Amino acid sequence: MSTTAWPPAPAASDSWRAHPARIVSILDETPGVRTYELAFDEPAVRAGYRFAAGQFNMLYLPGIGEAAISLSSDPEHRGTIAHTVRAVGNVTDALARLAVGGQVFVRGPFGTPWPIDAVAGRDVVIVAGGLGLASQRAAIRQLARRTDGGRTIVLHGAKRPDGLLYTAEYAGWRAAGIDVQTVVNEGDRGWQGRVGLVTHLLADLAIHGPATTILCCGPDAMMTGVAEAALRRGVAAESIHLSLERNMACAVAHCGLCQFGPHFVCRDGPVLRYDRVAGLMRVPQL
Ligand SMILES: Cc1cc2nc3c(=O)[nH]c(=O)nc-3n(C[C@H](O)[C@H](O)[C@H](O)COP(=O)(O)OP(=O)(O)OC[C@H]3O[C@@H](n4cnc5c(N)ncnc54)[C@H](O)[C@@H]3O)c2cc1C
Repeated sequence: MSTTAWPPAPAASDSWRAHPARIVSILDETPGVRTYELAFDEPAVRAGYRFAAGQFNMLYLPGIGEAAISLSSDPEHRGTIAHTVRAVGNVTDALARLAVGGQVFVRGPFGTPWPIDAVAGRDVVIVAGGLGLASQRAAIRQLARRTDGGRTIVLHGAKRPDGLLYTAEYAGWRAAGIDVQTVVNEGDRGWQGRVGLVTHLLADLAIHGPATTILCCGPDAMMTGVAEAALRRGVAAESIHLSLERNMACAVAHCGLCQFGPHFVCRDGPVLRYDRVAGLMRVPQL
């Protein structure tokens, strides 16, 4: 007879604890998308909270539910954190009804980070589809400070020009030496930039594949297209990192909701190497 207790003990003692936080600012980004700056109520949590670029929190609104949301602020910024959120359902709609001063409960951080520590001297191409850029802004802020000689390139695609995220920050990113390129599926009257897909930007980019790392976040089909385009450019599969989005509930690999083949996206992801998930990405509905 098995002696395994159920439910099993949480991975870390604090993983289940949701800390109260207040909204200190709200910024409208694109239609339906806002960035919420949060400060934890408890001074010790506020001072001690740390995360790595690519990780996420579970945002909890009592009586409504929890949602997994990427951390979009600079990991080295202290005192507040930020989440960029699209209102699409129960939790995110309720969040959109809150004002500055509103209370949110935060569990986290969870998940695997972007491999920022492993890119010294390498070119990093950040490829983002729509809101995917939210999970990469923390990495961009860190890479803006890099002094190791590697290039940082951001390729950001959106359906329409008003879906391009963080446009007010591009000038600062460029001033820090980052090459920022945008593309939209469908232009409007004022749009003078490129029309097409982010894979087109990648195809036109001058890169040396073996010395390049790809960080990609967006819809699954887009990420598969980007990964295959990168492989064709000579980038190694283990240097292609995708951030996967799956419905999740516990965030600590117990409930199984986010199971993706042998992986739990909440624990083994969201950032996973392409060589580990390429086969799974081709399985419909997984
Ligand atoms: C690691 C990770 C990071 C993420 N980061 C972000 C982020 O930075 N920003 C962000 O905005 N989102 C992010 N997401 C996505 C976010 O977690 C989901 O959109 C989440 O479902 C939102 O919760 P909700 O309660 O607001 O929406 P839900 O109520 O869960 O609804 C989500 C979607 O499901 C549909 N839906 C709801 N109920 C039903 C039903 N009964 N039948 C059919 N369809 C239904 C809704 O119409 C909607 O399209 C992330 C997800 C993951 C896994």
